[in-house]
Amino acid sequence: MTANNLNSAHPASIDLIISAGWVIPMKNPNEYFENYALAIHAGRILDLGPSEKILKKYSAKQTLHQPDHVILPGFINAHTHMPMSLLRGLADDLPLMKWLKENIWPAEAACVGPEFAKDGTELALLEMIQGGVTCVNDMYFFAEEIAEVIHRSGIRGFVANSILNIPMPWAPNLEDCFTKAQHICETVKQYPLVKATLAPHAPYTNDEKSLLRVKALAEKFNTPIHMHVQETLAEIHQHDVLYKERPLETLDRLGLVSPRLMAVHMTQVSPSDIELLRTKGASTVHCPESNMKLSSGSSPVSLLLKQNINVALGTDGAASNNNLDIFGEMRSAAFMAKLTTEDPESLSAYQVLSMATINGAKALGISAETGSLEINKSADFIAINLKDPATLPVYNPISQIVYAAHPHQVTDSWVAGKQILKNCEILTLDADQIYQRTEIWRQKISILVQKPTKS
Ligand SMILES: [Zn+2]
Repeated sequence: MTANNLNSAHPASIDLIISAGWVIPMKNPNEYFENYALAIHAGRILDLGPSEKILKKYSAKQTLHQPDHVILPGFINAHTHMPMSLLRGLADDLPLMKWLKENIWPAEAACVGPEFAKDGTELALLEMIQGGVTCVNDMYFFAEEIAEVIHRSGIRGFVANSILNIPMPWAPNLEDCFTKAQHICETVKQYPLVKATLAPHAPYTNDEKSLLRVKALAEKFNTPIHMHVQETLAEIHQHDVLYKERPLETLDRLGLVSPRLMAVHMTQVSPSDIELLRTKGASTVHCPESNMKLSSGSSPVSLLLKQNINVALGTDGAASNNNLDIFGEMRSAAFMAKLTTEDPESLSAYQVLSMATINGAKALGISAETGSLEINKSADFIAINLKDPATLPVYNPISQIVYAAHPHQVTDSWVAGKQILKNCEILTLDADQIYQRTEIWRQKISILVQKPTKS
């Protein structure tokens, strides 16, 4: 059925009409509509328009009226490590390398396995779905378990078995990493909404040979390349000693800077980096809260956007954030840009909301399918209740979402037309069971990582 072949005498029968106080399609800058409705059928957006018109044009199996709500595309968390939610709060207030080498990697060596990945992913998805995320891009290990949980949760997702030349109990060498990375690319096809990426951890954990293999596999399986790049100034210095060039230059020399590349962090950006990203069509993923917490630096997002470079938004893992809250991330992105440029006009609320929705879809190569509310796109959307002390009065719903709203105001979400969150209750995962499993992990991890006390 299309919007064009409707019989005007008899309203066409469709799956769902949802009319709301406001709809933000994320198609044109700063555009939003009052008293607007979406018509959903067979998992896709069949139509959108003024509520009165849509209600007259269609009859639906289910009709929802949400006058206090704003409807918009679901959030896309473009960079995270979901299982690390089980390490939330384990080590804080440290610089990146000390945090990684002395705390996170040893804790992971002691705890990580398929059960850890499954339970951590469930906890992460519970938090994210309740906060309006409908698509996640994950980088971790045990991607098979992670993919299965994403599939069960009903949202859209990208998974990867990370590639890094550091021996780990579950991946003793680089060859094993490649075997696992390739395996998930082959097996993820069983889940309709889950895809794979190639995820070399970072330039400092992969040599040139490894990066060339990544490029070949990404082309073979037609996947994005998801990678931490230029996260800190120390990384630039360390790389320069070895290669006499910047990490991004090495990636370009090897052919990895392309529309496939999602360069996560990019807190260190030179004019030549901007030129490379712009001319090669690569995306960056901004993770402002992780960058602030680890004092890694700040990505010059407004400068990148001015050069038409696509910038998506990510939370990073809960161990370095310490939450997976896109509202907090949007607010931090806006404030960080205004503070560092000393210009309150440097990054607008609409630009930030684009980073959390359509730009994430562009970075992942799925913008024809999701990321905005347009006819024939997948019905991936959320409803946020603005009748809340934090977001009244509503002069402009875009401003309220970016600068004032909280995750608990997301009441409902749909992915491919299927409802995932209903009146703040998750329909696809068992929250009580997740809390119980998390407590078991807390007890287990506390014992495993206990540091010897001085006698
Ligand atoms: Zn990360």
